[in-house]
Amino acid sequence: MAVKRNKSNSPGNSSDSGPKDPLDTPFMRQYLELKKAYPDSILFFRMGDFYELFLEDAQEAAPIMDVTLTRRQNDIPMAGVPYHSAETYLARLLSAGKRVAIAEQESDPANPKLMRRSVRRVMTPGTLVEETLLDGAGHNYLMSVVPGDQRAGLAFCDVSTGDFFCLEVEVELEAKNESSLRSVLRDYYYKYTPREILVPTDALNRVRAVFNDARQACVPVEDWKASPTEGRRQIEQKFKKNLKGLGFAEDSAYALGAVSLVIHYVTQNFPGSDLRLSPPVFREVRDRYMLLDEQTIRNLDLLHNTQEGGSSRTLFGVLDRCHTPVGKRFLREALLSPLLDSTEIETRLNLVQRLAEDRELRESLAAELKKVSDLERAYSRMSTGRGQPRDFVALRTTVLAGGRLKELLSGTGESIDVGEELKQLADHFGRTVVAEPPAVLHNGPFVREKIDEELDRAREASERGSRWVAEFEKQEREKSGITALRVKYNKIHGYFIEISKGQADQAPADYRRRQTLVGYERFTSDRLEELQTTLLAADDIIHTIEARIFQDLCELYLDHGPFIKNLMRSLARVDFLLSLATQAVRRGWVRPTLSSDGSLRIQAGRHPVVEEYLPVGEQFIANDVVLDNDARCFAIITGPNMAGKSTYIRQLGLIQLLTQVGSFVPARSAAMPVADRIFTRIGAQDNLTRGESTFFVEMLEAARILNQCTDRSLVIMDEVGRGTSTYDGISLAWAIVEYLSDPAGPQPLTVFATHYHELTALEEREGIFNLTMDVQEQGGQVVFLHRVREGAADRSYGIHVARIAGLPESVLARAEEKLIELEQDLERDREDTRRKSRGGRRSSGGEQALLF
Ligand code: ATP
Repeated sequence: MAVKRNKSNSPGNSSDSGPKDPLDTPFMRQYLELKKAYPDSILFFRMGDFYELFLEDAQEAAPIMDVTLTRRQNDIPMAGVPYHSAETYLARLLSAGKRVAIAEQESDPANPKLMRRSVRRVMTPGTLVEETLLDGAGHNYLMSVVPGDQRAGLAFCDVSTGDFFCLEVEVELEAKNESSLRSVLRDYYYKYTPREILVPTDALNRVRAVFNDARQACVPVEDWKASPTEGRRQIEQKFKKNLKGLGFAEDSAYALGAVSLVIHYVTQNFPGSDLRLSPPVFREVRDRYMLLDEQTIRNLDLLHNTQEGGSSRTLFGVLDRCHTPVGKRFLREALLSPLLDSTEIETRLNLVQRLAEDRELRESLAAELKKVSDLERAYSRMSTGRGQPRDFVALRTTVLAGGRLKELLSGTGESIDVGEELKQLADHFGRTVVAEPPAVLHNGPFVREKIDEELDRAREASERGSRWVAEFEKQEREKSGITALRVKYNKIHGYFIEISKGQADQAPADYRRRQTLVGYERFTSDRLEELQTTLLAADDIIHTIEARIFQDLCELYLDHGPFIKNLMRSLARVDFLLSLATQAVRRGWVRPTLSSDGSLRIQAGRHPVVEEYLPVGEQFIANDVVLDNDARCFAIITGPNMAGKSTYIRQLGLIQLLTQVGSFVPARSAAMPVADRIFTRIGAQDNLTRGESTFFVEMLEAARILNQCTDRSLVIMDEVGRGTSTYDGISLAWAIVEYLSDPAGPQPLTVFATHYHELTALEEREGIFNLTMDVQEQGGQVVFLHRVREGAADRSYGIHVARIAGLPESVLARAEEKLIELEQDLERDREDTRRKSRGGRRSSGGEQALLF
């Protein structure tokens, strides 16, 4: 027999049921239950028109979102934001590196009084699809890393466009300190600037050490999810694709693991939605594209200005004349992936030239491109259930523009991938959807007439009903003599008759009072209720049918994913090439030719970015560069501070890069080799956050160049050996010059700018020659001519530059004194050395004797 429990049986044996527990309510229990599943995310808990945050989440997020922290029932910390402006607040949380789980509400049939909530989305910086939270011109990558001892697998996915690819890279073991894994990972990180990096838990510390300055971005994922078997299973199950067909080799185990991490993470962040990504493509490393390393991307200011951040004063900023976000993304990608195949370079150059020569064609293409929408992002949005009626119109307009662009491009060798399938889809949308549908479904009619008979009938009934309401209002006014009588509608009360308080007592006897407001009384009547039933029934039918048609159209849209992707890719490419041509014409750039003997000849070359931003009235001084694999493979460039050395060597790097991007270049003429890599080591910067000193960074960068360059590489180096003592610095710089110019070594084409004038003595070695920057001295004033000529500099004019910068006169005078002293000491030492060597004691290194 069951024993009935009473209070005295309960543990504690007390009549006190404990302190009043504000968290022990059905509502808070539901909240806490959900929060338990998302401990690392801020939980947005939908309550009516607000998202509410409670407890620690509220305390943490309120200051970031800049909203007031309040208390629920005077006790529980709480903060809230209106749902319709939630994205503003989400943006703040995401840029503070937070993750946000969004719980929406739905009624619970079992308990109609309590709304049920479930998480529909976890928003993280690397898995956004909301256009308002994304940068249209850039990708928003999620990266995953599975590091092994000799290889590492990487995957990249832009959920907002569906792009998904992976690769495997060698991780040299020779450096046990992981410097190799470090540099490889950092290069890719810098190239794709992912917002999150997924890492198997057991490799977390290893990878975090690499991304010390972006530690927050590393997200641990359970180790089993990085297993290759899981990767294979996921790909086959989710994409129904054969691995070989996607480019995977038998042994791409790490890449498969990396792909699996991404799929798991994305699926988990979009619970219950069928997000459609493109199948992950396995990319061979170094096949079509040049690998640009972190320092080169940064040193050449390709996408971000190192000093100011942002894209102004960058190569991207100068070249970007794109009309579409897809074009801008293509341009970014192209700048980071210069081509290695000369035929591909020539193909791009051919179209750029064709467009540069034909203004009318350029204008016609631009006019069509302006009509193109970002269907890549629309597609992803739609696959997460966030499509809207205007997406169908945007697709149709884009496909039509694609068709016209295709015609315009006929005979140019370039085409737009707009096939029959898409044309039919666009026609179908055109026939079904009105020309100007509402921004949000159900905010107005979006389906054309004669598409669905039942819908047409319901609309007619609804229109008729609206007329009846208007007539009813008129009749009631006349009948009652109340001129201010109005028939109104709201979502909560439906239709009602509103009469001002002053006239309410004149309301006809058949009116029934429904609501009393401050200045009005609201009534209903049998006739009005009848009208309302008819009207609401019609609206209900319209609602249901439009929702069904909308769903069907969304399905059709989503079924055309690969066609849409191809169309957008080809549109992006044309937009990109048109942008290059427009810039070429605007700035008078020329088509480079590709040299077959590895030599490089630039006549009157200019720096594309410095030239663009030169103050009004100043003219950029163009300079030549001639390098070859023979007598002129290594240029040592000396010259005063501020004379233009850095500008000159960077412009060489940029012209080389532009050539391999398929662009015209800022020069009178340019014959360029196809380089396998462009290496740069420029300026001094430390990475204190990474635990690396200025000099260490300098040596890391130099080591990498020396270890990886080939006779087909272009190397530009500025200020090597500056971060240590003068003698250590000169000795290192000296040895580096010897190594790189040695005919028995890799011997890349190199330009080496330095303030160590002693290095100019190396000119005697085969392949090395000196360049210097011209200056004019007039009456104690120094004028920088920014002109490069053959020869060596003898002075740096550092004190002169310090004077321009505003150093106190007393310091400058003392520096001048000291300079004379040091120069005299040095001259005496040199004289001593010369005497000794004349005396028969040969120095172990003749060149070094010159120096010290
Ligand atoms: P430092 O040795 O002090 O680093 P630098 O020789 O490398 O100096 P740059 O930084 O290249 O000098 O140039 C200094 C400034 O001179 C640039 O910011 C630019 O404004 C201007 N300048 C450089 N080259 C040219 C040029 N060819 N024509 C016009 N202006 C130029």
